[in-house]
Amino acid sequence: MTVTRRDFLKGVGAGAGLAGAAGIEAFPSEVAARELKTKGAKEVPSLCYYCAVGCGIVASVADGKVVAIQGDPEHPINRGTLCSKAQAYIQALDHPKRLTRALYRAPGATEWQEKPLDWAMAEIAQRIKATRDAAFTETEDGVTVNRTEAIAALGSAVIANEECYLLTKLMRGLGVVWLEHQARV
Ligand code: SF4
Repeated sequence: MTVTRRDFLKGVGAGAGLAGAAGIEAFPSEVAARELKTKGAKEVPSLCYYCAVGCGIVASVADGKVVAIQGDPEHPINRGTLCSKAQAYIQALDHPKRLTRALYRAPGATEWQEKPLDWAMAEIAQRIKATRDAAFTETEDGVTVNRTEAIAALGSAVIANEECYLLTKLMRGLGVVWLEHQARV
């Protein structure tokens, strides 16, 4: 059966009339205004950590909780857009498997132990110092120089230009020559 445009409009009109006669509002005159979850939230600019593109995001924070995430329209890389991974970003924030404490597995151990962040920081600093001191290279003349090939540094898409600068500065100061970035691994 062929339905013309006129038949279709007549059918819609008849349906609306019947609904009205039955006391049903086919087209509610008032739609309850949905309160936006971002109402009153503070907007916090940040970066997407998922990949090396480093897109800018804006997190809406209300009562200490992220309630929405969107692309940062002022960010030069993504200009407000976000890929599907980042659009699902908010799921990762409150995920029960998200790591929020340092986990340490001692050499030879099979179990992880939870450690305070301060402990982890101090441990990393001591190990960097010990490795560096033990692995400085020497010139052909036997002169020890500030160069160690026993430590490598890996950057991240989550760190900004200034942080990259500081990381590079720190590593060069420590004599680290292997500097990489997650974009290239
Ligand atoms: S939004 Fe997508 S493309 Fe941009 S950094 Fe995140 S994962 Fe990468």
